[in-house]
Amino acid sequence: MLRIAIQTKGRLNEQSIELLRESGVTIKEEKRKFLMRAPDFPVEILFLRDDDIPQTVAMGAADLGIVGYNEVAERGFNVDILQKLGFGGCRISLAIPKSVEYCGLEFFNGKRIATSYPNVLQKFFTEHGITANIHTITGSVEIAPAAGLADAIFDIVSSGGTLISNGLVEVEQVLHSEAVLIGTPGLSKEKSAIAEQLMSRFESVQKGYGKKYLVLNLPTSALDDAIKILPAMRSPTVIPLAQEGWCSLQTVVDEKELWLIIEKLKAIGAEGILVLALEKIVL
Ligand code: ATP
Ligand code: MG
Repeated sequence: MLRIAIQTKGRLNEQSIELLRESGVTIKEEKRKFLMRAPDFPVEILFLRDDDIPQTVAMGAADLGIVGYNEVAERGFNVDILQKLGFGGCRISLAIPKSVEYCGLEFFNGKRIATSYPNVLQKFFTEHGITANIHTITGSVEIAPAAGLADAIFDIVSSGGTLISNGLVEVEQVLHSEAVLIGTPGLSKEKSAIAEQLMSRFESVQKGYGKKYLVLNLPTSALDDAIKILPAMRSPTVIPLAQEGWCSLQTVVDEKELWLIIEKLKAIGAEGILVLALEKIVL
């Protein structure tokens, strides 16, 4: 039995539950407790505040945890980073009031900077020879400059909308983060085996993110052109149709390129194009 800690509520909660569910680990939400046993895989789920996940895993009170890399970097506990999970993407950046001129990193020498990530910031400043006053604030860091509490902030940015609405501009991106799977160093052989099984399922689920399955009919004469349009496709599935001179082509495409690819395929005579959801890719 393996214990895995995830966020109780917040930005990573839903996607953590979804990743586990798609990996065959069911969490019955209606009966959610602090600790829950999955009915279909030898794991227990421990629900915690994200702040507490790195320490809980470092201590071995949970064997694995799903948490933002930013929290792992800030808290500095001894955990193994086992896998990037492809969601919860954000960055921690330095931002200053947009009315102030920025002259490069030296700007921060002697300045007061509000942040919830003092350790990550101190490490960055030390590496770059900057001496600044770091003020640790939990809560709304972005209001600190307007409130006269700081000259700059060091905070999480994803879209940048919060910065703009507070009259701030991002000047340095310091740490890029996404949700990661962390583990207690030195797990037993038995626990490692379960962890590896879970990680390989996570990988299959992740490979399906942002991908679609495309099925279409094509004149056989256009097959070579179709293969050029689909550069990522190494070995397309080609099935002859009952109607002579036609075939059915099946492949996986990146969602970002989907419409462009469809338009090109139509231009060379593709018909009956189906776009299907793709759940997992097991290699
Ligand atoms: P908890 O109550 O568990 O302590 P929290 O309020 O500290 O939650 P959330 O706001 O739910 O944390 O964010 C959890 C994680 O989501 C962050 O640590 C970060 O890794 C990631 N994240 C992604 N985008 C953003 C964003 N725009 N703002 C904040 N966190 C983000
Ligand atoms: Mg938190």
